[in-house]
Amino acid sequence: MKNLSKRTRAVHAGIRRSQYGEVSEAIFLTQGFVYETAEAAEARFIKAGEDEFIYARYGNPTTSMFEQRIAALEGAEDAFATASGMAAVNGSLISMLKAGDHIVSSRALFGSCLYILEEVLQRYGVTVTFVDGTDLEQWKAAIQPGVKAVFFESVSNPTLEVIDIRAVSDLAHAAGGIVIVDNVFATPVWSDALAQGADVVVYSATKHIDGQGRALGGVILGTKEFIRKTVEPFMKHTGGAMSPFTSWMLVKGLETMELRVRAQTESALALAKALQGHPKLYRVIYPGLADHPQHALAMAQMGAGGTVFAIDVGNRESAFRMLNALEIIIISNNLGDAKSIATHPASTTHQRLPQPQKEALGITPGLVRLSVGLEGTEDLLDDLMTALEQA
Ligand SMILES: *Cc1c(COP(=O)(O)O)cnc(C)c1O
Repeated sequence: MKNLSKRTRAVHAGIRRSQYGEVSEAIFLTQGFVYETAEAAEARFIKAGEDEFIYARYGNPTTSMFEQRIAALEGAEDAFATASGMAAVNGSLISMLKAGDHIVSSRALFGSCLYILEEVLQRYGVTVTFVDGTDLEQWKAAIQPGVKAVFFESVSNPTLEVIDIRAVSDLAHAAGGIVIVDNVFATPVWSDALAQGADVVVYSATKHIDGQGRALGGVILGTKEFIRKTVEPFMKHTGGAMSPFTSWMLVKGLETMELRVRAQTESALALAKALQGHPKLYRVIYPGLADHPQHALAMAQMGAGGTVFAIDVGNRESAFRMLNALEIIIISNNLGDAKSIATHPASTTHQRLPQPQKEALGITPGLVRLSVGLEGTEDLLDDLMTALEQA
C-alpha cells in the first residue's frame, strides 16, 4: 500500500474479508472467539497469529481493520485502537513511563491532556517540565540528557499554536527521548508527523476520523515494537480497548475523511479570510492566514491550516451574545464534525484552569473556537456575520 495515494489507502487498506466476500467491512460484534481444541486455545495464548484473536479487549477483526487502515494512512508500522482519544494519550504515556522519569511537554494543551500531565503523572513520581511550545530555546533548556519523552499537540487546542515537529524531535532524540505528538488538529490528512521525526502519534478518532459525531475513539500509532511490546500489554490489561462497533464506524469514517477534511479546511480558510479585519473582532487565529505567527511552519509541516480557527470578540458577554445568535453553527464542544461547532473554551473545555493559566495560554474571555463543518461556506459566513452583529 506504501506507493498508493492516501485516498486509495483510506478506502482499501487493512480490509479482512470473511468467507462471504462482503464488500463493506464486517462488524464482528463478538467479545470472544472459539478454539477448535484445548491445544489450540493454549497455542493462541502463547502466541496469537495475525488473524487469530482471543478477546475483544486484546483485539478484534473489525478493530484490526481500523488499526491497519489508519496505520497505512499515517505511514506507521502499527497502531492500537483505544476507547477514546484520552485513553490513547494516557496509554501512550503511562505504558512507557515509570516513577523517576522526566518528560517535557508544551503548556498549551487540551484540558484533559493537561490533567494527565500535571496531576496524574506527577502523582506517580514522573517529573514534567512545561515549556512554551513555540519557543525552541525553552525546549532546548528543558530537554536534558536522559529525558524519557517529549509530548505536545502539534497544533494546540484552542489557541492554534503550531509546534515544529522536526526541530523538537531533533532535540529530544539527541537527548535520548521519544517524541509523542497529539495530532488531532493536524488530522491524518495534513499529517506527516512520523516522517518529520515523531516516534508516536496519537489521535482522538472522535474528531475528524468519525467526523459525524457518533462515537468516541482514539488511536496510538508507532513502531511495531512500541505498539506491540509497550502499548498493547498495558492497554489490553487495563481495559481501554475500542469497541468493535465503534471500530466499524471509524473504519468507514476513514474512507471519506480525506474528502471531508479537505472541504472543511477550504471552508475554514475562506471564513477566516472573510472575517479578518471585521470591526467586532480583536483577532482571527488560523494557521492558514499569513499573519499567524507560525504560518510558514504550518505550511511547511502540514501544507494547510486545518479545519479549526478561533476568533476573539473582546469579552465574555459579547462571546455569549454571538454564540446565542448563531442559527446554523451549533454550540457544542466537539470538533472535526460535519456540523460546524462553536465553543467558548474559557467557560467549557478549559473552565477548570485557574485564571492566570488561562491568560498564559491565551484563553481569553472573548475567545470562540470554530470547528468548520461541511455546510455551504456562504451559509456559514452569513450565520457568523449576522451573529457578530450581536457581539
Ligand atoms: C478531543 C481531544 C482529545 C481527547 O479526545 P477524546 O476522544 O475526547 O477522548 C485529546 N487531545 C486533543 C487535542 C483533542 O482535541
